[in-house]
Amino acid sequence: MDQKPNDDRVRIVQLLCGPLRHAIFAIAYLPGMSAQGSDDNDVVLTTANAAAYMAAMVNRWLKQKTIGDRCGLCDAPAASWVYEDRATKFQTMEEALPQLRASERANLQARDMIGGAHRN
Ligand SMILES: [Zn+2]
Repeated sequence: MDQKPNDDRVRIVQLLCGPLRHAIFAIAYLPGMSAQGSDDNDVVLTTANAAAYMAAMVNRWLKQKTIGDRCGLCDAPAASWVYEDRATKFQTMEEALPQLRASERANLQARDMIGGAHRN
């Protein structure tokens, strides 16, 4: 196994509710990858700014009411949500995507079971 430094790995920023840590939203990125910023300028994502980048996006959605300000599973308010940036074992986005999709799906299923009444 060739060990690469963590900076070469795909990283994931997760938005978790507090204190139960339900995954509300997640993005995967490779350090050095660019993403569209809020002002249409590209942002180069690094471990130093990825969580803040996602927080800005989520705060915009909260303001626009694109997403609710409560965890769909336990009703924890947005003020208790936390962002976590960590490395995955994956070296390419292609490898990481199936796993991201799988956890997204698991979360959606949990929401369907518990939060079926939340539809507006
Ligand atoms: Zn929750």
